[in-house]
Formats: sequence, C-alpha cells, structure tokens
Amino acid sequence: MTKTVYIAGLGLIGSSLALGIRRDHPDYRILGYNRGEASRSIALEKGIVDEATDDFAHFAGQADLIFLCVPIQQTIDFIKQLATLELKEGVLITDAGSTKQAIVEAAETYLVPKQLNFIGSHPMAGSHKSGAIAADINLFENAYFIFTPCKATKKDAIPRLTDLLSGLHARFIEIDAKEHDYVTSQVSHFPHVLASSLMNQAGSYAVDHPLTNNFAAGGFRDMTRIAESEPGMWTSILMTNPTSILERIEEFKERLDQVAEMLKTRDESGIWHFFEQGRLTRKEMEIHKRGGVDSFYDIFISVPDEEDTILKVLELLRGISVVNLRINEENRSDINGILQITFKNKEDLEKAARLIREQTSYQVYLD
Ligand code: NAD
Repeated sequence: MTKTVYIAGLGLIGSSLALGIRRDHPDYRILGYNRGEASRSIALEKGIVDEATDDFAHFAGQADLIFLCVPIQQTIDFIKQLATLELKEGVLITDAGSTKQAIVEAAETYLVPKQLNFIGSHPMAGSHKSGAIAADINLFENAYFIFTPCKATKKDAIPRLTDLLSGLHARFIEIDAKEHDYVTSQVSHFPHVLASSLMNQAGSYAVDHPLTNNFAAGGFRDMTRIAESEPGMWTSILMTNPTSILERIEEFKERLDQVAEMLKTRDESGIWHFFEQGRLTRKEMEIHKRGGVDSFYDIFISVPDEEDTILKVLELLRGISVVNLRINEENRSDINGILQITFKNKEDLEKAARLIREQTSYQVYLD
C-alpha cells in the first residue's frame, strides 16, 4: 500500500510526476528532496510537495515509494546510499533515468542483497526545460512510460506503480533494460548527437557565411530544436549508453558515405530512392499517430498571414471536435502559413474540409 511518496529531484520530471500522482491520489503525502533551493521553494509554494528537504536521507525512511528523479550518475549514487539506510518495510524504489542498464545493474548489485524492491522506470516525455518551474501535469499524457524489471523487482512493483501513476494518463509498457537502451539510442540519444552536430556545423559555417543565421528556417528549426536541451543530462546519457550510441554513429557515417557516393557519381535515381525511402518510412512510423491514437485525420489549410485568420477557420469548425492544431510557419513574412488541424474521424475531417472550401478561398489539402 502506497501512502507516502518520496520524490528525490524536484526538477521537470520529478515535479511533473508529483502533480500527476496528486491528480488521482490527493490523499497521499508527497515528500520531496532537492539539492538546490530554487526548485525546493517553488515545489512547496505551488503545493507540488507537502514537505521538502535538501538532505536525501532525511525522508527516505518514511516513504512507501521512493522515486529517484535526479541525473543518472546521481541516481546510481542514491541507490548505493539507499542500501545503507533504514527503510520502511515493503518500500518500492524506482527512478526516471533516461538510460536503464547502468541503473538496473546498480540496483542488482546494491539492493538485491538487502532484499529491497526496485524497478527501473523511464517516462518517455520531457522537454528542453528544467526545474520545478517547468512542472507540467500533462507532460506524460499519452506518452510511453517504460518499466524495466530486473532481479531486484518483486511481483507487486508494476501493479503498485500503474495505480500510483494512473493520473499521468501515460501508456505503460514493460521491456528489458538492455533493449530499452538499444531502442532509445536510435530514436532519442543519437538524434540529440545529430542535432547538436548540425547546430555546431551551422555555427562554424556562419562565421564565414553570416546569412546562414538568417536563412535557417522551418526545416532547420525542426531538425535542431532538441539542441537546446540541458547539456549535463545529455552528457550523462551518452556516458551511460556508449556502446549503442557508438554503433548508431558508425552506421550513420556509412549512410552519409552512401549519399556522398551517389552524389559523386551523379546517381540521380539512387538519390531519389534515398529520399523516397525516408518519406515512406516516416509515414509508417507512430510519429504519424499523434498522441498515441491510431488514426487521426489531418487537414492542411494554406492560410494568409492576416489578422484573425485562425479565428475565422475555428469559427467555421464550431461544433466539430478538434484533436490538435498546429501552425507550420515558414521564417518569411510574405509566405502563407500552413494550418494543420487534426480530427477524430473521417466524417469530421470531410465536414471541415467542405465548410472551409465553401466559405473561404483558402486551399485545403487532406493528409
Ligand atoms: P532537471 O534538471 O529539471 O532536474 C534534475 C534534478 O536533479 C534537479 O532537481 C537537480 O537539483 C537535481 N540534481 C542535479 N544534480 C544533482 C546532484 N549531483 N545531486 C543531487 N541532485 C542533483 O532534470 P529532469 O529533466 O527532471 O531529469 C531528471 C531525470 O529524468 C534524469 O535522470 C533524466 O535522465 C530523466 N529524464 C529526463 C527527461 C527530459 O526530457 N527532461 C525525460 C525522461 C527522463
């Protein structure tokens, strides 16, 4: 039975988890640890936690569940420390680290001899923001929340956690820690390496070609958004998943070499197929099933950059349920923006398309 939750690390992830836990369990006591004063004060002021400390050991013995939401290396240090502390009978320990194998290995080494119950967790949502100031109750909505059971995990761990975390509205999934680190190296860790490489390359190039900064528009922005992430977190991710990330880097170099070769040999058809394969593969991926719902329906409306355009479109759609709305603007003031609206079903999509076509001069495209 979980009644007292101890969240160590009141940053973006720890504070957002606390808000999500409170949503379905307002009667639980939430205690917090944070090294720095700022996030501790914000978490107390906003009622994210009931009490807070800067001494990790202070609340550990009172908790039914301990959530380690600090950087990976610190998570490993806290696991070692927990093995030496007097903890409550039946306490469940988990973490939020972005790589899992190193953490699970630490749990197996230090917690198994103490018969302590541990399961690795990775909430697969986040942002480049940090600290309790960025806490967001909806951060994990529809996101995968991964559990990586190990030798230290007891049977009750997953049912207890899925109950505790029901208010996150996340999608819980269980995988092996090693497999987790392989898959995330491809879709998360390596893309961060690429985004920062691209940014660094553009930065150097801009020294001799200053217009680089002006011409960097939508495509470049989409590719490099994650280069704004906190460097400390990404350093520890690379340091704790080196083998998989190095494999991804080597494999990618080969892919770049293949493109270079096609370009040198003027292999136009090869280059076309290279782009076509990327386009088709992306369409097949879950990226297109936004928010985890299987079949969303998108409409793209080419709208002029004029006052009240979006309001006008939304007014026409009154009564039709809109799932998502996004403006894909270009970095030019004289070009039309593309308004992308997502509907729940085909009927809503077709009704919306008809209304906009009939009552405006905007061009409408369906996905
Ligand atoms: P954050 O920077 O917002 O918060 C990190 C917290 O750890 C802060 O409270 C900070 O005070 C504390 N901390 C940092 N170094 C410490 C140290 N040496 N000793 C004690 N406390 C220390 O970061 P976050 O985004 O909340 O990340 C926390 C964990 O969640 C990390 O393990 C990260 O890998 C994981 N995670 C992050 C994301 C993301 O996108 N931000 C997503 C999923 C998982």
